[in-house]
Amino acid sequence: MLLSFKYRLYPNTEQRQLLERTLEIHRQLYNDALTERRLAWEKKRVSVRYIDQANQLKTIRQFDMDAAWVNYTSIQQTLRRLQKSFDGFFRRIKAGEKAGHPRYKGRGWFKSVAYVYGDGCRWVDGRFYMQRIGSIRLFQHRPLPDSAKIKQAVLKRDGVGNWHVVFQIEIPDTESTSTLDSTVGIDMGLEYFASLSSGEQIDNPRWYRIAEAKLAKLQKMRARCKRGSHRNRELKRQIQRHHEQTANRRRDFHHKTSNKLANRFSTLYVEALNVKGLAMSHVSKSIADAGWRQFLFMLSYKAERAGGRVEQVDARGTSQYCPECGGRVEKSLSVRVHNCPHCGYVAPRDVAAAQVIAHRGSGRTDPRRKESHSQGVCHSPRPRVVAGSSLRKLGEDVTFRRLTLGFVSTTISLTPKVKPHSCRQPPRSCARRYIPRLGLAQAPACPGFSSEPVSRLITFPS
Ligand SMILES: [Zn+2]
Repeated sequence: MLLSFKYRLYPNTEQRQLLERTLEIHRQLYNDALTERRLAWEKKRVSVRYIDQANQLKTIRQFDMDAAWVNYTSIQQTLRRLQKSFDGFFRRIKAGEKAGHPRYKGRGWFKSVAYVYGDGCRWVDGRFYMQRIGSIRLFQHRPLPDSAKIKQAVLKRDGVGNWHVVFQIEIPDTESTSTLDSTVGIDMGLEYFASLSSGEQIDNPRWYRIAEAKLAKLQKMRARCKRGSHRNRELKRQIQRHHEQTANRRRDFHHKTSNKLANRFSTLYVEALNVKGLAMSHVSKSIADAGWRQFLFMLSYKAERAGGRVEQVDARGTSQYCPECGGRVEKSLSVRVHNCPHCGYVAPRDVAAAQVIAHRGSGRTDPRRKESHSQGVCHSPRPRVVAGSSLRKLGEDVTFRRLTLGFVSTTISLTPKVKPHSCRQPPRSCARRYIPRLGLAQAPACPGFSSEPVSRLITFPS
């Protein structure tokens, strides 16, 4: 499998200038190649492809000193990059999507140059050697895997002006050697970053809010500045730096969280993200989408590396069913607790959704239930205390406290809102209708069956 390892470079002043120059030449080559394609099409209706442009390189380098100065194969990589953006453009046209033509890159928009490793760049004695630039100090904060074979090195400048090198390496595929035999369903949310079917909830980190507030403050200050002033420029730099730092923190959090999960579970079921649907709903969700995507990407490659796997399941209505009995429990977004009127199962909303995801993924319901139903026994509802939380009785009410957090507490009533029904004539919400969705071969008797009101369903943690 292919992995990326990123290291920070510490060029000296002279090297920094040379790096800037390299980037600038590549940017101009990119733009010139784009112009050629445009003009050829506009004037002669000729499509110029990568190979046509690559074939001209040798001639160009004879009279263009800049093009001759930079590494030959790295120019090819830049031209391939242009080809890639055209490929995407044509693909989107074909698919009937909104297709933007590849654009010219401004100074701030061209940030990386790719090298074939060993050609014009090499990692020698803990330093990064580059053709025409020399040997640059590199901070190796972690080792490359022993079996790694470096394929590509991408030189990168971030928004603040720091330089990095990203090694794209290939390691042999690990066979499924995982000793873990546990599955988990994961529900991504905004209130909590993620909820697991085991009952744990991962808090949405607090720095996120703080970062938002600071960004708003900086942007407000900048809006009050005179355009083009020194102060305006300085604030722009600060805002860029702030964005960079926030992205770093988020990435760090995603790495750590996904790593923990991938090392703990062998099979992880997640929701298939619906991009179009998300974009149409809340704005905050589309913001979160970017973060989830990064997280899920990390989760899948880390799981693969550990010999496990990540599977996506249909995300529709995961929060509207009961993971214990499969009954439909409709709740609006403001209802944060799943409280099943059919079987009395109580769990935080997102945990219940994660459990439904786990069921959908593994294509079964709770094995204990399957067993008892096959014996023709419709046992009384059995509430379960969710791990990482505690239930405490307060008269008719119950305090649901998430111990993992300690500061959120919600008081909920356990008295069911819907009157329990008889199994002979199941109403729309009867569990039986929905059991096939959860993948159970035989629909069991409705666990919601009870002539007595479902209440006092709490068992206390021993
Ligand atoms: Zn239920």
